[in-house]
Amino acid sequence: MPHEAISVFDMFKIGVGPSSSHTLGPWRAALRFIKTLQQKKLLQQTQSVIVLLYGSLAKTGKGHGTDIAVLMGLCGEDPVTVDVTTIASKIQHIQSEKKLVLNNEKEINADVQFFISESLPFHPNGLTFLANCGDDIQISETFYSVGGGFVIKENEDKTMEIKIDLPFPINTSEDLLHWCMKTGLSIHEVVMENENAWRSEADTKQGLLNIWQTMKECMYRGCHSKGELPGGLHVRRRAFDLNKKLTRQNDYNDYNSWINAVKKGGNNFQYILDWVSCFALAVNEENASFGRVVTAPTNGAAGVIPAVLQYFIIFCDGNDEEKITRFLLTAAEIGSIFKKEATISAAMGGCQAEIGVSSSMAAAALTESLGGTQRQALMAAEIAMEHHLGMTCDPIGGLVQVPCIERNTMGAIKAITASQLALQSSPDYARVSLDKVIKTMWDTAKDMNFKYKETAEGGLALNIPLGLKEC
Ligand code: SF4
Repeated sequence: MPHEAISVFDMFKIGVGPSSSHTLGPWRAALRFIKTLQQKKLLQQTQSVIVLLYGSLAKTGKGHGTDIAVLMGLCGEDPVTVDVTTIASKIQHIQSEKKLVLNNEKEINADVQFFISESLPFHPNGLTFLANCGDDIQISETFYSVGGGFVIKENEDKTMEIKIDLPFPINTSEDLLHWCMKTGLSIHEVVMENENAWRSEADTKQGLLNIWQTMKECMYRGCHSKGELPGGLHVRRRAFDLNKKLTRQNDYNDYNSWINAVKKGGNNFQYILDWVSCFALAVNEENASFGRVVTAPTNGAAGVIPAVLQYFIIFCDGNDEEKITRFLLTAAEIGSIFKKEATISAAMGGCQAEIGVSSSMAAAALTESLGGTQRQALMAAEIAMEHHLGMTCDPIGGLVQVPCIERNTMGAIKAITASQLALQSSPDYARVSLDKVIKTMWDTAKDMNFKYKETAEGGLALNIPLGLKEC
């Protein structure tokens, strides 16, 4: 059976909110389309680009910022480095003028069209770029944003891709366990051996610490930003007030003194519960505001892993660079198994594929970090997903706000509970394996009505039709 090589940096990507499949993926597709124009030496003579959005990208594209993402991509902006505070003014200018500067080089006409009742056959998240390059030359390319910021080009020649041979090829959790048992390595060690096929161990560690740095900054920003989220749903940010309440006894003036202030509050159960929620709320409020986040494994679910890792660091004595990188390596491997055997796209599998997967990733990583065996870590991942099975995606107004932001708090708490359950149990007596729950999640995804797959046409989105004013 062929083994798809997915790196930890495919699962954790620095980007811009609010959605990995509807914002980050389409943004990257636009950057790839620019590359095509460059390769064909047509960029300088391009006169206009029209972007056609289909299926789920059309239905929830407004709320998820798909139009903004493709326009920013066509401007040549990189989602990893763009100054997120400039996005709103730049888009306002483009939308009022109907013009943009393609790849920061050539002014062209640009438009984004939403085909709400049409879907492309390969995947619900399809988009086509049409460029008019004069002299009757037209270039068109279709892409699919398949979840977690991954993008596939239609009719792409895969034989040109560089093949990575991994020492420990893994498709299923059984494969992962097999390599652990055969070598005596822990999960994070097996994953690191595979990462060495891409780059040096030192580079992987540094890259993971950069990921954690972005997560930390996002949490800190989210805890110190107040007001209403954009999009017209009038959702009030809550991390600001919660952070203020929880730190009222202890002063601080930067990230490190903030962490000390959190620690000084003690270990009371409710206090810890409030903080885990606060960390998750902070990340997803930033995500909903087009802020800089880490896709983990998606943007809608970006708060779960930082909240659980921060819980480990502050309340379980995990403040150590080695421990942090190990946590992220193990979490990423679980996410990549879900991607290979099922999906991490809400347009394919509903919210179980986003919050469910992130909770499962966090549960395994926390269990291993707290001294659990490899089998206990996989058991924790199974428990976390088992209790997200069937969860639908029904974001009100097509925005990644309600129920999304609170769902991250739930995903984080379920991950911690799943980890504790696994640590207190023997996997010998477990009746459900991780592979079986992944299969069940995929079966459930296939049976799920399309209304509950990131269309905003069912569930809460239907029953709470609060007037969405377009951003
Ligand atoms: S409901 Fe879940 S899957 Fe859907 S947009 Fe919100 S977080 Fe993502």
